[in-house]
Amino acid sequence: MKKILNYINGELIEPKSGQYLDNYNPAIGKVYSLIPDSDASDVQQAQEAAQAAFPAWSVTPKDERSRILMKLADLIDANLDELAKAESVDNGKPVSLAKSVDIPRAASNFRFYATAVVQYSTHAHEMEDTAINYTLRQPIGVAGCISPWNLPLYLFSWKIAPAIASGNCVVAKPSEVTPMTAYLLSKLCIEAGLPKGVLNIVHGLGPKVGQAITEHPDIPMISFTGGTVTGKHIASIAAPMFKKLSLELGGKNPNIIFADCDFEKALSTTVHSSFANQGQICLCGSRIFVERPIYEKFKTAFVEKVKRMKVGNPADDTTKMGAVVSKSHMEKVLSYVELAKEEGGAVLTGGNQAHIEGECADGWFIEPTIIEGLSFDCRTNQEEIFGPVVTIMPFDTEEEVLMMANSTKYGLASTVWTENLKKAHRMARNLDVGIVWVNCWLLRDLRTPFGGAKQSGVGREGGFEALEFFTEPKNVCIKY
Ligand code: NAD
Repeated sequence: MKKILNYINGELIEPKSGQYLDNYNPAIGKVYSLIPDSDASDVQQAQEAAQAAFPAWSVTPKDERSRILMKLADLIDANLDELAKAESVDNGKPVSLAKSVDIPRAASNFRFYATAVVQYSTHAHEMEDTAINYTLRQPIGVAGCISPWNLPLYLFSWKIAPAIASGNCVVAKPSEVTPMTAYLLSKLCIEAGLPKGVLNIVHGLGPKVGQAITEHPDIPMISFTGGTVTGKHIASIAAPMFKKLSLELGGKNPNIIFADCDFEKALSTTVHSSFANQGQICLCGSRIFVERPIYEKFKTAFVEKVKRMKVGNPADDTTKMGAVVSKSHMEKVLSYVELAKEEGGAVLTGGNQAHIEGECADGWFIEPTIIEGLSFDCRTNQEEIFGPVVTIMPFDTEEEVLMMANSTKYGLASTVWTENLKKAHRMARNLDVGIVWVNCWLLRDLRTPFGGAKQSGVGREGGFEALEFFTEPKNVCIKY
């Protein structure tokens, strides 16, 4: 069986323990490869490699760092088919999605930071004829990057690219649920000529490998994307050590549809924003609020469209929804459907495990599910489900929908559908979230700040924000 290896000090190596974990193909429901069950000793080895590489890498000219990252991006493009297939098998997502979104975006992440770092400049503050202050932005040392399973290579590279572009070295841990493309990336790093130790990838469990990275006294910054509970735990360890922390956490995003929207666009994008990647994108709109005059019309059309979505083998190009990531995740998502029923919700479509014929007969699939009749403050509408389950509710006024939209502990993203410009601005200003999409969803300019408010995170990724996170500002004041 195929064995994934750690990537430490430029080499692909076995975990020190010699132990491996099972890696499942969720569409088949079977183990198909093995993941290193690494521990603190592997993290220690990776940290030492990163620390040793830091002095040379941090002074490597930006143009040279940029050239290597560009080469890595080109290699990702050149291996698009293999990487997309691997992502689909590992995660359960349709191969068409991995090919059009996940893998091209991973290449874009490297390309974006390869160019951003050479464009990045700092500030000078002049005190009239007294003095000049200028700010240096210096790489810090070894960064810990921990990522989740939903967009594996996409989110992994979103951290690694700015970290190494700005001159740091990295100890990274991909999700143990979807480690394959990070492993394939490590091979491409070798091919691209990335100096040894600049990037180290340690595979394994969160409470072992992630915990060891978080606790390591010589990893002074942690960039984490994952669940809010894990983020809270990481913060509790990192904060007393005064580590720099970037936390991208969960969401419960409102999708607000006014009666004056472009109905067809709102409808088709809502299908996408509800169920893309099986609803397992932190930005998916899981609470759909529709203004009462169009509520029945929208609901009927939405249910009809969703009923026609093809749930099937992720390897099939016509599949719109593949498998969810694991059996335990499927059970968790379906338990929320049961909770919704207990809370008085009516399932308009879906609600069950989907059974696919052929080689996917034992896979973990869920029918796209729409639930109505729930109050905005019930558990189903307050807790993150992170699967293909959405709720739909009517509203009467802007004030009412804002109150309901802002009622959760999360504040990641929101979608607003209206043709009224003033209303769009008002909503955007008053939503307690980090990202507002008006008449669109998941339209991403990589220069913009990305992240959440409230319990959806701390700090921002994207653009120069990430370069600021991975560098330390130092003010130098020179008297004239
Ligand atoms: P998770 O929190 O279970 O795991 C994320 C990563 O943290 C994994 O690599 C895991 O191994 C590691 N981890 C687990 N325990 C750890 C510990 N004690 N110390 C250090 N690391 C540990 O999240 P998940 O289930 O992989 O991902 C789904 C969650 O991620 C959802 O809540 C989703 O909303 C969130 N997410 C957020 C964003 C965003 O940008 N805000 C993007 C994608 C996903």
